[in-house]
Amino acid sequence: MDRQHRVMGALVGSAVGDALGAPFEFGPPDAFSARFPTAARGVRTEMCGGGPLGWEPGEFTDDTQMALLLAQSLVAHRELDGADVFDHFRTWAQAGPPDIGVQTSAVLLSGLPWDAAAVEHVRAGHRAAGNGSLMRTTPAALFFAGAGREATVDAARRQSALTHGDPAAGEGCALFHEALRALLEERDVDAAVTETVPLIAEPHREKWARTCHRDWTPDRATESNGAVWPTLGSALWALRNSRTFEEALRLVVDLGGDTDTVGCVTGALAGARAGITGIPVRWTSLVHGRIPGFGGRVWELRDLQHLAAQLAGDVGDLHEPTPSRGLEPVEVTDGVWACDLDGARGSDRDLAVVSLCRTGGRFGHDVQRFAYLTDDDTNTELVTVLDDVLADIAALRADGKRVLVHCHAGASRTGLVLRAWLVRTEGLSAREATDRVRSVWPHLSEHNSSFTAALDEFARRR
Ligand SMILES: [Mg+2]
Repeated sequence: MDRQHRVMGALVGSAVGDALGAPFEFGPPDAFSARFPTAARGVRTEMCGGGPLGWEPGEFTDDTQMALLLAQSLVAHRELDGADVFDHFRTWAQAGPPDIGVQTSAVLLSGLPWDAAAVEHVRAGHRAAGNGSLMRTTPAALFFAGAGREATVDAARRQSALTHGDPAAGEGCALFHEALRALLEERDVDAAVTETVPLIAEPHREKWARTCHRDWTPDRATESNGAVWPTLGSALWALRNSRTFEEALRLVVDLGGDTDTVGCVTGALAGARAGITGIPVRWTSLVHGRIPGFGGRVWELRDLQHLAAQLAGDVGDLHEPTPSRGLEPVEVTDGVWACDLDGARGSDRDLAVVSLCRTGGRFGHDVQRFAYLTDDDTNTELVTVLDDVLADIAALRADGKRVLVHCHAGASRTGLVLRAWLVRTEGLSAREATDRVRSVWPHLSEHNSSFTAALDEFARRR
């Protein structure tokens, strides 16, 4: 898998986990599975919003808000500038975010300078090993991953110390940075964590070794999961006991308690493992939020993807697509329509839109899903993407929605998904499906041979 897919998966995955867990914060165990015993793929998904703080469906919380501030500072300065990050955190805290942590709030609003506030907080006898520095450290872990163990462990500790004066929190961040680095490099996570434990300073080494051990389970936690140890321990436990992003997140949100933060930390690791294409489209498409104190800008999927690329060293601008021809939507088969980018943008608002290209943002339809699919041969996880998108189309159809599939020209990616839909729903061969689509949608293009190979594979597996 392309490393960039893992980097994007980590940043987007953390925001997705945060938003998925937010409605269940402070709730009892198993509330998520009681409400969603199976995957919710139709018009309403598991991104249900609500909870004690009244989140919008898909809205991320303080975890991601702080992570985005950290990320922007790293990208702007190309280093971890503690004074700058603290300054941004303080502006955010002063704007009164709805769910700021007690300890984080006390430190940021203490009026003390950036390099003294957290230390003073601990000196005054307050507890300081919450999970509030771990929850936001994913951007630093991504930024420093390429610089090796020593650099990333050092950055983790410095990032944590801005608000968390207890070194135990910083050591948790250090272990997390190494776990994420291992996932980006496709190494074994448990082995990477075990190798990092000797670097943990006394007196925290033994407790961290226990919490990160492969035998540890959340019922062995000695604190609530608002503390740093069980948060990381639970994320690693979920990783060991799941195969997919979806399974990992269900496990941790079902733990109850601090579900947004445990979801966020788990989402980063599971997202790095699965890559951007392994995170369900119905979740990535809904994730969004604002940063209190920094204007009304709404951050959504494409902004997170762009920021992830910047953290990994890409200096390109946010992509704005060029105009397409603006084709009229055509019904290709019962309730499933085809179009190009600008045709889809201007289409009836009651259509459920499945976007297979970069769009420059949401169109304004009630339902719009964004799949990650590039029209080249770098999509190593094509069949995974097809499975996910087709299952969503089926669920949206079952909810009575007409579904409009589009990409930039409506030719190659649109053609792939429509053909795969016919293979799956009508039992056609790849050749028959191609002929059927072409007879009503002459814009179909077969130029991408990796798409043709994936379609053949898809038809064989049927
Ligand atoms: Mg939160």
